[in-house]
Amino acid sequence: MNPVGLYIHIPFCVKKCNYCDFFSINATAEEMDIYTDNLIANLSNWSIVIKERCVDTVYFGGGTPSVLGTERINRILSDVFNNFNVDKSAEITIEVNPNSTGLVDFNSLSCNGINRISMGLQSAVDEELRILGRSHTFSDASYSIERIIASGIDNFSLDVMLGIPLQTFESLDKTLNFCIDSGATHISTYMLKIENNTSFYINRSKYVFADDDMQADLYEHTCKRLSSAGFRHYEISNFCKENYISRHNMKYWLLEDYIGTGPSAHSLLDGKRYYYPRNIQDFYENNLKFESHGHTLEEYIMLSLRTDTGLVFSKYNELFNIHPSEKLINEAKNLEKLGLVMVDNNSVRLTEKGYLVSNAVISRFLNIEIL
Ligand code: SF4
Repeated sequence: MNPVGLYIHIPFCVKKCNYCDFFSINATAEEMDIYTDNLIANLSNWSIVIKERCVDTVYFGGGTPSVLGTERINRILSDVFNNFNVDKSAEITIEVNPNSTGLVDFNSLSCNGINRISMGLQSAVDEELRILGRSHTFSDASYSIERIIASGIDNFSLDVMLGIPLQTFESLDKTLNFCIDSGATHISTYMLKIENNTSFYINRSKYVFADDDMQADLYEHTCKRLSSAGFRHYEISNFCKENYISRHNMKYWLLEDYIGTGPSAHSLLDGKRYYYPRNIQDFYENNLKFESHGHTLEEYIMLSLRTDTGLVFSKYNELFNIHPSEKLINEAKNLEKLGLVMVDNNSVRLTEKGYLVSNAVISRFLNIEIL
């Protein structure tokens, strides 16, 4: 049986960021205790479902998992090790925010199995952090990284936001240079999107947001800078040093099995997708919902083309018992002439230029194979 990834959602945040539409809430210590108890009960249900299958990645995401504090996180970790068949070399990641790293003892987390940190830096410029409504400063982030490194956890990822109002190429360079110099093994970039019901959306008339051209220029600038610093651009938004891809996130793009616990967490197991609704009560009542059948042709085309291994013909054949159509391959060759994809005997991959218009390229392939 193939290994499974385990996603653990911690829906708590100290403060809502101006752009955030994730499910995240404020909670008291008592509410966090209750949540931890329920999470552990829920993990026990999942352990019965997946039995002895090996778990090779564990990911604490949020929200802000670090607000739970060391003791609760260690309780959950110990439960995971007791109830699941966790691989000896499993990647075990926790997301942290610089404002809450004071609540966790990285040495203790490391002793209890955490071997990778993902930190929401977003920017190394205080004014940009203020605009985003983040509750940390650049010096908080810098200090947190020192503490992570001092604990011996040398595999850490930093999130960087692109398209922040007032962001310039110079200010972006300050952030990218900080990430590169910090020793980060992985960098995730996110284009600022204005989602409904966020503070940015409500107050949108007060800001000047980057237009499409500026967004594309910032993205291209980032790709070049990180590539010149030795990072592999292995997924549209993700860059890593050699051998430091996010093994957990790769499961999402390669349609591999993962289970998710917590409100709004999703699972893909044995070809079926499930989710918990975005509220705590449904989660406490274990109200797991069937979402759809996974492993569809559409999913494979959309997700595989996000990665630098691309759409692999042999994998396509293995999954769906058919080869990509001649029409798709001809279209790929046409797009190759425009510099948007690379085609060889066994794959189609987007180029850096192709990543910039990935939605349009992917839709063309979807139109050919599905519609
Ligand atoms: S820390 Fe993350 S999850 Fe929490 S409010 Fe900010 S963006 Fe949302």
